Amino acid sequence: MAYQPTIGLEVHVELNTKTKMFCGCKNDPNEHRPNINICPTCTAQPGSLPVINKEAVRKVIKTGLALNCQIPEYSKFDRKNYFYPDLPKGYQISQLYQPFCREGFLIISGKKIRIREVHLEEDTGSLVHPENAEYSLVDFNRAGIPLMELATEPDMHSAEEARQFAEELHLIMHYLNVSDADMEKGEMRVEVNISLSKNPPAGGGKLGTKVEIKNLNSFRAVEKGIEYETERQTKILNSGKKVVQETRGWNDIKGETFSQREKEEAHDYKYFPEPDLPPLHHSSAIVDEIRAEIPELPQQRRKRFYKEYQLDEKNIEIFVYNKDLGEYFEKVVSEFGSNLPKEKLYNLIKTATNYLITDLQGQLKGVSVTDKRFLITPENFSEFSTLIVEGVTSSTIAKTVLKEMVRTGADPSHIIEEKDLSQITDEAEIEKIIKEVIFKNQKVVEDYKKGKTNAFQYLIGQVMAATRGKVNPGMTSKLLTKLLKDV
Ligand SMILES: [Zn+2]
Repeated sequence: MAYQPTIGLEVHVELNTKTKMFCGCKNDPNEHRPNINICPTCTAQPGSLPVINKEAVRKVIKTGLALNCQIPEYSKFDRKNYFYPDLPKGYQISQLYQPFCREGFLIISGKKIRIREVHLEEDTGSLVHPENAEYSLVDFNRAGIPLMELATEPDMHSAEEARQFAEELHLIMHYLNVSDADMEKGEMRVEVNISLSKNPPAGGGKLGTKVEIKNLNSFRAVEKGIEYETERQTKILNSGKKVVQETRGWNDIKGETFSQREKEEAHDYKYFPEPDLPPLHHSSAIVDEIRAEIPELPQQRRKRFYKEYQLDEKNIEIFVYNKDLGEYFEKVVSEFGSNLPKEKLYNLIKTATNYLITDLQGQLKGVSVTDKRFLITPENFSEFSTLIVEGVTSSTIAKTVLKEMVRTGADPSHIIEEKDLSQITDEAEIEKIIKEVIFKNQKVVEDYKKGKTNAFQYLIGQVMAATRGKVNPGMTSKLLTKLLKDV
């Protein structure tokens, strides 16, 4: 029997603030020497007191606003009590009762996914287990790094939907510059809540038993983890057994979830208000000020790129996902001039898009257009596109010119002149070259006369080779056909 999964996500994101959440230690995820960025506060020495990091608070509120959340006027921190060796205080400062952001949503493929809340807490240290050692080591560099937690309502019903949500959220973090959200480094961690039901609440029924999957460190793991759990729980339910409410881990190599522990409830942590920190008041003036800092977000950018540049969906997604490339593209377009006829402008836009997305990427080999090593100015790229559209350079020559532009940053007309790459457009000159090719390839010409079609292509290739690609392929084809008739 078919069961439908109901899915909610909890996402933890390390914020990219300069300093930690409650002390002045550097927040540096790239510090690999252990216990360098630590102080009495983040290692919980007696007498130390926390101070709230304003930058972290603003980043959480900014995220909440970008996700259409309400920002309550007052919020406060709470203590979540539990013991673990990477948690020196024996509690984590978090938010349970009055989080910064509530009741937001994000639209994914036209569907509204509600966001229950976004709150702020501190990250823990990390344990290191040396191979073959009978002890573990603890590194507190990560202890106290601001950690934003976002929880959705259980509004998703497929692995694909959950993955899309996580991907869009990741993109928004990047646009807002609140986190680097590198999943491989654990800067963004996704937990999935999943339950199976024949008739979920949306259809008037009840939710099944909830299982949580932790340690999902890639979008693929989110999708695969949900698919695996759906299958596992379906088997259990179909055999007449009950699903156990528990927390499960994800083994990426085996592609399986495994039981970790039975689920704790909020009351197990004996939360209470954090006595060392004051409640926070967010005036509407401050909230408005933060709202004004929100840049254009991915969904707005998709719409605008469609409207302004008439790009297709696939190219829009590439420019939105590769934010820097998309912004470079816009600078190139702005160099085309404002008085062009519409048709020519869209032709230029299309040409620039194709070369930026395919040829240029192939040559850059992963170097970003914002990297110092990338030397092509938007003005030069715009000129390059114009030379192609105006037929000054063929696509074969364009590749050579682009390669040289990547190498030196020189302007394309200069490269064409210096390397003698301008197209041969003089018909008489092309005919002369073709006649030479025909003369040198009598055997192939005979094959052509016998009807071998690849013989023609071979001759075209010879003409291209003789001119280093400087002839127009269409014109060459036409003239070659004509001259072969006379042979
Ligand atoms: Zn510290």
